[in-house]
Amino acid sequence: MQQSCRKGRDANTREDCRLVAVVNSTQDFWRQEFQRRGGRYSPASTVFFSGQVNTACGAASKAVGPFYCPADRQVYLDLGFFDDLRTKFGATGGPFAQAYVIAHEYGHHIQNLTGTLARAQNGQTGANSNAVKVELQADCYAGVWAHNATRTPDESTGRPLIKSLTDEDIRDGLNAAAAVGDDRIQEKFQGRVTPESWTHGSAEQRQQWFYQGYRTGDMAQCNTFR
Ligand SMILES: [Zn+2]
Repeated sequence: MQQSCRKGRDANTREDCRLVAVVNSTQDFWRQEFQRRGGRYSPASTVFFSGQVNTACGAASKAVGPFYCPADRQVYLDLGFFDDLRTKFGATGGPFAQAYVIAHEYGHHIQNLTGTLARAQNGQTGANSNAVKVELQADCYAGVWAHNATRTPDESTGRPLIKSLTDEDIRDGLNAAAAVGDDRIQEKFQGRVTPESWTHGSAEQRQQWFYQGYRTGDMAQCNTFR
């Protein structure tokens, strides 16, 4: 799929190409950000799937939704999820909601690289558990990326990937993504733990942390464990 998307141009017209453009933008951003901090980013491949998929985290049953598998360091994007997002929520399930979901999953990859993800795997799921803190941090990291994506020209098009983002866009997009996501979480994941099978924070908390990343553009401001 990546190969069939001409750079940049198709991102506005084809949904799959738009998802690819977001993936590329996210990884470009984190590569630069790690470099700036004296580290080295190792990319996570993206696997697009419909229905079922086998991963190092086990076989995902029907319609599990997008997720990150720490064991094989890949982001799995369920195309059915993005269809539902669009058909159930229309405009609010559009480009920003999709981008947020992808950036959130890459946030888990960042946590895997920094070692934070391992802290959440203690089996607890309550409101103050590390599992929730990991989710909120991934939302904050998605916001950090969005901050950059509204300001920095995209490598393929020379224009920022996100034209503008209002508080309302953020609220509606995150709500739509969460609503579709919660449906899917019923259809349990068989196998090892992935972040998406853990508890997420409340809608308010999630927006608050996304906004924290979006406002500051600084991953150091995403310490949800403090
Ligand atoms: Zn997550």
